[in-house]
Amino acid sequence: MIKLDFHPAGRHFLQIPGPSPVPDRILRAMSYPTIDHRGAEFGVLGLKVIEGMKKIFKTEQPVIIYPASGTGAWEAALVNTLSPGDAVLMFETGQFATLWKKLADNLGLAPQFLGLPGSEGWRQGVQANMIEERLRADTGHKIKAICVVHNETSTGVTSDIPAVRRAIDAAGHPALLLVDTISGLGCTDYRHDEWGVDVTISGSQKGLMLPPGISFNAVSPKARAASKLAKLPRSFWAWDEIIEMNRTGYWPYTPNTNLLYGLSEAIDMMLEEGLDKVFARHARLAEACRRAVRGWGLDIQCADPAVYSPVLTGVMMPEGIDADAVRKIIYERFDLSLGTGLGKVKGRMFRIGHLGDCNDLTLMAALAGCEMGMKLAGVTLAGSGLPAAMDYLASVPGGLLA
Ligand SMILES: *Cc1c(COP(=O)(O)O)cnc(C)c1O
Repeated sequence: MIKLDFHPAGRHFLQIPGPSPVPDRILRAMSYPTIDHRGAEFGVLGLKVIEGMKKIFKTEQPVIIYPASGTGAWEAALVNTLSPGDAVLMFETGQFATLWKKLADNLGLAPQFLGLPGSEGWRQGVQANMIEERLRADTGHKIKAICVVHNETSTGVTSDIPAVRRAIDAAGHPALLLVDTISGLGCTDYRHDEWGVDVTISGSQKGLMLPPGISFNAVSPKARAASKLAKLPRSFWAWDEIIEMNRTGYWPYTPNTNLLYGLSEAIDMMLEEGLDKVFARHARLAEACRRAVRGWGLDIQCADPAVYSPVLTGVMMPEGIDADAVRKIIYERFDLSLGTGLGKVKGRMFRIGHLGDCNDLTLMAALAGCEMGMKLAGVTLAGSGLPAAMDYLASVPGGLLA
């Protein structure tokens, strides 16, 4: 029996692909006293996090911070730019793309869900050529926005966003480009301005290493112009009033003060390390993880090496094995949380998160927990996956030497 007041000795291994572990430095920053959100000191904090997030999104344009989970920022992106019945082209990469599409349906939009047949799309990235083809056929420009997920957290696939931009431009189509990088931001390169993205959506509890509770819209001038004509009802999510008040570091309503302290610290940490180093660190751990999976003789959910995610790895279970039963054993025996299979791949795979505050030994411990648990669950492995991961980590310097 698991009791709420019980936690075993040692740190819980939170290896799900978000929420990711919150570093002590951020936890401490969040424990500062809550201050007056209309006072002078707050304005300094507000301006700092807004300016800092522009660096993380690589944009000169406004970044809006909502006291909401990522789903809120998804909704905000749609209601600020679109009108009832508008056609939007969304690409099915996995469960998060599917949930965003459902949200668009619920808002009264007319999403067209493009994807590869069957569950094949759940092993691949966004197919820019399919988007280009669909846009070329849309001669009347009925499609008002293209929505894609940058890092599909349900499968472990990171799509090529510049390729999507090129496809839209090649078709000469005026639709907006909306990108969810809720789990990609802070883990892998992202360039809101350079890639010509109109609205970028992100959240706090993945690469930014914060608890859940804040989310973001980075918005282009074209998206702001669209918002002047967009007719979907909105109030809490409306950009204009927030952007206006943000000029002095304040919000129209009560912002998430203590999470903003944490965000300020997270921005400092990432910029001190250097974004390129942050991304290289993620790529290195992801490669080690994939080597372990191959050592086990198991398949990686992402079938295209060009779009392997540096954030998480999806591990497919052999036929006849319930991935959630394996996860349960690993959780109960080793205090290690892994991501469940979502939607179409429920029970077929589990996900190992290697994002944010994670280092070589965190990953090795997590892989050891997976290996022990899989053996206990009766999964037939080709061999140990640990040596391949260890050899790779030892041969490619990381940590203090990176
Ligand atoms: C986590 C996640 C979401 C959902 O965010 P919530 O904070 O759970 O609302 C959406 N898209 C992607 C890609 C995610 O990883």
